[in-house]
Amino acid sequence: MRLIAHAKINWTLEITGTDGRGYHLLDMLTQSIDLGDTLTLTASDELTLSVSGNDAVPADERNLAFRAAAALRRYTGIRAGAAIRLHKSVPSGAGLGGGSADAAAVLAGLNQLWQTGLSQHDLESIGLQLGADVPFCLRGGLCRVQGIGERLTPYPAAPVWPLVLVKPCEGLSTAEIYHHYAADSAVTPAHDRVLKAALANDPRLLPRHPGNALERVSESFLPEIQQCREALLAAGAVCAQMSGSGSAVFGVFPDADSAARAAAILSGSWPWVTCCRTSASPYEFVSEEEPAL
Ligand code: ATP
Repeated sequence: MRLIAHAKINWTLEITGTDGRGYHLLDMLTQSIDLGDTLTLTASDELTLSVSGNDAVPADERNLAFRAAAALRRYTGIRAGAAIRLHKSVPSGAGLGGGSADAAAVLAGLNQLWQTGLSQHDLESIGLQLGADVPFCLRGGLCRVQGIGERLTPYPAAPVWPLVLVKPCEGLSTAEIYHHYAADSAVTPAHDRVLKAALANDPRLLPRHPGNALERVSESFLPEIQQCREALLAAGAVCAQMSGSGSAVFGVFPDADSAARAAAILSGSWPWVTCCRTSASPYEFVSEEEPAL
């Protein structure tokens, strides 16, 4: 079976405190995008992983795709194996949740391939052990994500809007950015204004800069993030912001033509620029005849 594991953007990201174990408590509006890695899962005696498209991504038991399969085996006690082929299209260290999306798609795909029959709730609780974004990546669409990533409130009318993503050359480590986050740099993001725009399906109602609590820390490591945001707005985006802990920045455009024109201009100055759309689904099953993107 072949799946495209959709990445995500964070429309808003607020840190509301920490829990007793030191995990950050989050309040985010997160949405799937139709940019994704390609996963091919084939029944096999052993569990194996191969990775293409990004030499920096580990192809061993550190990889979240592999860890997801191992976690599913532990949870169910099943002894089946699978050959997992992962082709990376989502840059890592971008705040686009590529690794989390891979983990979610492996959990959903192997639950079918191995006929383990787990519920969405079971998959999400396994996913939470792997990372805060994994439960969302199993649900997809547009969700308010709270707690340590386990409380999901879906908004079924998730809009499909044109985006341009821009990433500076360097990526950022999520753990390092959270480590340097100081509570006194808290922001109050415009969750309600984003939701209002989404429910009205009108990107022109979006705030230009909805608010991401990690942006200040990430920009202190990588000032290009602010330049990316300004470049997207100058190229016609109605809203532009860093996603997650960065370093990718997304811009929302009123229509696909203006997004394509902006991407053509921006690709002259930035190393990684791509057009995509927000999506209503966490992953999609595709034919194995189609080449890995
Ligand atoms: P997030 O938005 O969840 O903070 P990110 O987009 O910044 O994540 P990822 O692509 O998820 O970053 O990768 C972060 C790190 O995790 C990488 O440096 C990589 O070494 C490791 N990693 C483990 N599994 C994967 C995977 N399947 N794809 C990408 N990176 C992975």
